[in-house]
Amino acid sequence: MNKLLEQCKLCPHNCKVNRLNGQIGRCKCTDKIQIALASLHKFEEPCISGTNGSGTVFFSNCNLNCIFCQNYEISHLGKGHEITVDELANIFLEQQEKGAHNINLVTPTMYVVQIIEALKIAKSKGLSIPIIYNTNSFENIETIQMLDGYIDVYLPDLKYYSNDLSKKYSKANNYFENATNAIKEMYKQVGSPEFDENGMIKKGVIIRHLILPNYIQNTKNILKWIKENMRR
Ligand code: SF4
Repeated sequence: MNKLLEQCKLCPHNCKVNRLNGQIGRCKCTDKIQIALASLHKFEEPCISGTNGSGTVFFSNCNLNCIFCQNYEISHLGKGHEITVDELANIFLEQQEKGAHNINLVTPTMYVVQIIEALKIAKSKGLSIPIIYNTNSFENIETIQMLDGYIDVYLPDLKYYSNDLSKKYSKANNYFENATNAIKEMYKQVGSPEFDENGMIKKGVIIRHLILPNYIQNTKNILKWIKENMRR
């Protein structure tokens, strides 16, 4: 699977750089996993954080670099440290032991290849809590297809309807087309949200949308798309 990093096309930037020999593309990631933080996060949506917290892993760097990012040091400046696939698997297991309701992979797109390997190891050692893929949605559909069977909950942003806005604020071309194709694939895999007896999410898609000041039509267009495409 590492071969996918030889000509990286994990996201729609399609940089085609060889990350195995140290080349970097738009996201600045090599073949090494880099994370900024792993912790029990208590401030996601209540159905994700619950009482114990969500076992969150913040991956360093990003394939979008939005100018309004709240994690600027992690996403733009690459703050973090390198870990191995085995160490990532152990982090997942440690979060479960600490009582996390789920594993929450934040900005995982650039590391999908290594995350799948880590999940295989962790699941063989007893990882059983839901796995959440928390993404900006600037994804190639083939990348989401690789995750089929590994992810229980998709938590995609749907930021921009307008291509002008996605270029202006995230330097991303065709964001809406790529993001909606990816979200349709996510929905095909896991469907609408399902919750356990305590109200915690077990499975499904939750779309997040940030309202941009002065761009209410952007939000209206996105809500219209969600209503038309994300039916139970
Ligand atoms: S994951 Fe990074 S290197 Fe790969 S295509 Fe996207 S931006 Fe480029």
